[in-house]
Amino acid sequence: DFETNNRALSAKALLAAFDLKPKKAKGQNFLADPATARACVERADLSPDDSVLEIGPGLGALTIPMSRKAKQVIAVEWDTNLAKVLENQIESLGLSNITILNQDILKTDIRGIAERAGGNMVVAANLPYNISSQVLIRLIQNRDLFKKAALMFQTELAQRIMAEPGGKDYGRITVLAQYSSRIRVLYSLGPAHFYPKPQVDSQVLEFLFKEPDPSVNEDILFAVVKAAFAKRRKTLKNALSNSELPFSGEQAQAALDEAGIDPKRRAETLSVDEFVALAKAAGKQLK
Ligand code: SAM
Repeated sequence: DFETNNRALSAKALLAAFDLKPKKAKGQNFLADPATARACVERADLSPDDSVLEIGPGLGALTIPMSRKAKQVIAVEWDTNLAKVLENQIESLGLSNITILNQDILKTDIRGIAERAGGNMVVAANLPYNISSQVLIRLIQNRDLFKKAALMFQTELAQRIMAEPGGKDYGRITVLAQYSSRIRVLYSLGPAHFYPKPQVDSQVLEFLFKEPDPSVNEDILFAVVKAAFAKRRKTLKNALSNSELPFSGEQAQAALDEAGIDPKRRAETLSVDEFVALAKAAGKQLK
C-alpha cells in the first residue's frame, strides 16, 4: 500500500519521484530517512490531546508520524509544490487529522489557528534555518497560545539561544528566549541525517513557556533588548539613547541608575534579570 511503499522512501527518493529539487534559499534540508523522523517524533513526547502546529512540514517526514500521536497536526508550508505532494499523500493514507496551510509562517495568523484548534497547542518543527530566529521571536510573542515547543535549529543558533552572559554568543535571541522560556537540549543530529546534507550539526531544543510577568511591559523589554544589542559594542547609555526608543541621554542614564546598572557596561554583560530591571526602569522614564 501507499504507506509501506512511500513512507519508507528517503527524502531523496520522494523528491525524485515528484520531480522536485530542494530549494537551498528556503532552508529545505529534509530529514533523510523515515526511521530518524520517527525517532524525532518519539522524543517530542506528544500526547493524544495535543494539537500540533508544525512549521515547514516539507515532505511530511514528521507530520505523518506526529498525526498518529496527537489529536491533529496543522502544518504551515510555504512551498506550493511540497504542500501539494503532502496533501496527496495525506489523502492516499486517509489521514483526516492533518491540515496543510500553504502559507508563509511569518505572515500566518497563528492566533487564529490556535483559536480554531481549541487549546492544548504545541509547536514542533525542523525549522528553515534562514528564518529560525524570526520564527522563534514570533512564537515567543504569542507564547500564551502554546504549552511548549520542540524546535530543531542549526547548532550555532541553539548555542546562542542557550548562551550565558559575557560572550559573543549572548545576544537578543538569548535574552528573549531565556526570559520567556525554560529551555533544554533534547538531542543533536549530524549532517548525515539530512538531504541535502547541511554544513553543520542540528540540535533540538524544548521550550517550556513561562507565564507572562504582569509587572513587565514586554513591548518595552523587547525594545530595550533590541536597542542594547543593535549597538552591542557601545556602552548601554549610548546604545539606549541612540535607538528607536524615545530616550534622551539623561533618561537613559536615569533608567540605568534606577536599575543599578553601570551605564558604561555593554549589552552582552547583562543578565536576563538585569534586562528586566532595566525595562521596568525604562518604562517609568517613558511614561
Ligand atoms: N519538516 C521537514 C523535514 O523535517 O524533513 C522539512 C524541514 S526543512 C528544514 C524546512 C521546511 O520549511 C521546508 O519544507 C521549507 O519549504 C519550509 N519553509 C521555508 N520557509 C518557510 C516559511 N516562510 N513558511 C513556512 N514554511 C517554510
